[in-house]
Amino acid sequence: MKPSEISDILISEDAIRGRVAELGRRITEDYANKELVVVGVLTGAVTFVADLIRQLDLKITIDFVAMSSYGASTKTSGEVRLLKDIGHPVEDVHVLVVEDIIDTGLTLRYLLETIRARHPASVETCVLLDKPSRRLVEVPVKYSGFTIEDKFVVGYGLDFAGHYRNLPYIGILDQ
Ligand code: 5GP
Repeated sequence: MKPSEISDILISEDAIRGRVAELGRRITEDYANKELVVVGVLTGAVTFVADLIRQLDLKITIDFVAMSSYGASTKTSGEVRLLKDIGHPVEDVHVLVVEDIIDTGLTLRYLLETIRARHPASVETCVLLDKPSRRLVEVPVKYSGFTIEDKFVVGYGLDFAGHYRNLPYIGILDQ
């Protein structure tokens, strides 16, 4: 059931499941006896958030933001916009931002600045995939699933032109 546009499976369904469980255990330990707001970034992080929260043995609430980026290669920082804000006030609460992939870092940096300005008790980041070779700005990533090379990947929530989000694995798109 691998579409022909997917040249390779980079990370299997099993490998993702195992890593998400590990991340869940670490986050559960780190936030023991604390209340946590998990903030997912729409739309790509939906699958990751859904699986990760079921590995958290904690009292949590979830929320989502939507961001838009005009593309880091053409313009520098400040080109990211918040399309949908979180519904919860986050003052004095612990926030964990969950994103599908960090690439240039511009999206997460903007989101972290936005949340920090509201004085949460803490704010940390969790990404499934990290492409460090493309980073333009430094962003602290506390929890990272997999470090990958500079390939365009789809599946497990990540899309190309809206497609492939439903693939259960991370695949490399043949471009
Ligand atoms: P950043 O602001 O870190 O450059 O961008 C992060 C966003 O870029 C991700 O949320 C995702 O939407 C998009 N992105 C970056 N690399 C990839 C990739 O390999 N595949 C897909 N589908 N989206 C990517």
